[in-house]
Amino acid sequence: MLLFLVFILLANFSIGFILSRIIGKGPPQGSPERFPVPVQKYIISRIGDPPDTNLARRVSDELQVNFRIESSGISWTNDESIPDIPRLREEKDFRSDGQNFIVRLRGRPIIVNKTDDGYIIFSPFMPRDLINETNVVIAVVLIITILAVMLYLALSWIFGPIKKLSEGVELISEGNFDNTIIVDRKDELGNLAASINEMKENISNMIKSKESLLIDVSHELRSPLTRIKLANEFIDDPKIHNKIRDDVKEMELMITELLETYRMDHEQGKFSIEKADIVKLIKDVISKFEFKDIQFSSQFAEKEIFIDRRKIETVFRNIIDNAVKYSEGRTVAVDIYERDENRDSVFVSVKDKGRGIEEEELGKIFEPFYRIDKSRDKKIRGYGLGLSLVKKILEGHNAEIEVKSRKNEGTEFIVTFKKGITNK
Ligand code: ADP
Repeated sequence: MLLFLVFILLANFSIGFILSRIIGKGPPQGSPERFPVPVQKYIISRIGDPPDTNLARRVSDELQVNFRIESSGISWTNDESIPDIPRLREEKDFRSDGQNFIVRLRGRPIIVNKTDDGYIIFSPFMPRDLINETNVVIAVVLIITILAVMLYLALSWIFGPIKKLSEGVELISEGNFDNTIIVDRKDELGNLAASINEMKENISNMIKSKESLLIDVSHELRSPLTRIKLANEFIDDPKIHNKIRDDVKEMELMITELLETYRMDHEQGKFSIEKADIVKLIKDVISKFEFKDIQFSSQFAEKEIFIDRRKIETVFRNIIDNAVKYSEGRTVAVDIYERDENRDSVFVSVKDKGRGIEEEELGKIFEPFYRIDKSRDKKIRGYGLGLSLVKKILEGHNAEIEVKSRKNEGTEFIVTFKKGITNK
């Protein structure tokens, strides 16, 4: 507010100042009327004939005027900017017929009075005129520069915190609650930053308590599930027995995925990396599937890489499980290979000939709880947690996952273990 007032005052003052100079009082600067003929005559009479430089100096001081005297033997001026006769001779207005005349030099009138033995040259400019054209230009440039600098400072003062606020809000919208927006001000923007920080804190606490509730419930569900599993063993009717077994299995899987996702979010970096044969690991994962049409091929008999074995098992269990689930009985192919142009990396491809994924869905399938067709997929177990967990685990390994898919033709997931994982 204060800055705004200062700004307005300065702008008003400077515009008024310039206008008063331009519209000005009396005849415009540099006009010969500023120097009426009687004044010229009076000065000439005061400095004597022949001219006396002492008198000239006194008159110029008294009347605050500038002039140049050029007559026999005397060349005097109190303003070197007044041109001398040789200079004036170059001008076409110069008259050598003994008459008085006016020469305009770049718009500046030079009044030349012919005396008996020389010239007295006046210029309507006065040395004590503080504001001449150059001064006005300098003043305008200075004022504009100062205004521009002030405007810049004012804008950065206003927009600096807004930028910080928007960056902070963006981080919050991405789910990053660790950042505090620092706006060290005691005005509306400072208050806004404080409110956003408080809101963020509240949301973060709310999410944390919901999360811990979910995790606690998941943990607690494990014991009753184990009891159900045990009790199920005493059920003779195979139909009911199998139904209960499948349901319990599904619940266990969901709980495992939930707990695993939670752990990945909260214990980041807690990987127990060890040397493991990826070929054997994937063979083991495949062998645990009831579905038998999984074709396996590998360029390597064995390939040791540095991974968290248990987590990478989860990755491929999920990817292969999806391929089996979403291709409804068609063959699934798993392939381990390297590429000629990239021998530092190991690639694992899981390819199915299933329903495929629309292009616009490809980016979303890695989001937690995202399922493409919720109603259609009701028959197919799952909660949309698998791929988000896969992505987190692979990020923790600095490994990549790529998905290629065509609707109704099939899907291929390719995991790339890069240098650093493949050799250490
Ligand atoms: P879900 O538990 O639902 O399988 P995921 O996170 O593993 O969750 O997968 C997310 C969604 O991506 C799935 O619901 C499914 O719609 C789609 N999807 C994943 N893999 C495939 C695949 N191989 N073929 C077709 N759709 C797939």
